[in-house]
Amino acid sequence: MFFGGKRRYQVELLGSEKLRRIARPVGVVDDSIRELAENMICTMEVFNGIGLAAPQVGVDLRLIVLDVPEDSRSEAGSPGEDALLGTFPRAFINPEIVSYSGAQVPYNEGCLSVPDIFAEVIRPEKIVWRAADLDGKVIEYECGGLLARCIMHETDHLDGRIFVDLLSDAEKQRIAAKMERLNKFGARHNYVRYKKSL
Ligand code: ZN
Repeated sequence: MFFGGKRRYQVELLGSEKLRRIARPVGVVDDSIRELAENMICTMEVFNGIGLAAPQVGVDLRLIVLDVPEDSRSEAGSPGEDALLGTFPRAFINPEIVSYSGAQVPYNEGCLSVPDIFAEVIRPEKIVWRAADLDGKVIEYECGGLLARCIMHETDHLDGRIFVDLLSDAEKQRIAAKMERLNKFGARHNYVRYKKSL
């Protein structure tokens, strides 16, 4: 949709039932999937995100886009960071987390569907991740750092899970007032931005 030469981008907000479904696997990568991926990459850029999952644009499919910055490489490094950082933005279908490390780390997460709220989430430090790109190439890497964090966060979206579900009681308490405001606001409004068409 276009408004005065500007294209409209919209993200589902916390409270939307579309964020709570288990997304369906992507079958054949056809033009409609490519178009969805392109639209999601634009949406991620317009909202300055580093990742976005299809349910966040209201689509019930296992497709994510990533734009994790190149300089986010963890100190320890990982084969996934070596191979993937620098290739983004990029879309992946049917991502799967094959295994998780025992070690866990905290990180202050945010989400385009939960605007302006950041909270500490404890997750495994490393994962083994498998996915396919839009050309059908299957990749599998051990990933750490912000990349692993982002992959876990986006994969959660495909299973209807949002980072605020994973908070400690203390963190939930800390952001309770903000969450209440968002719940009221989110029920009535969509999170929309406009970008000049090229
Ligand atoms: Zn998110």
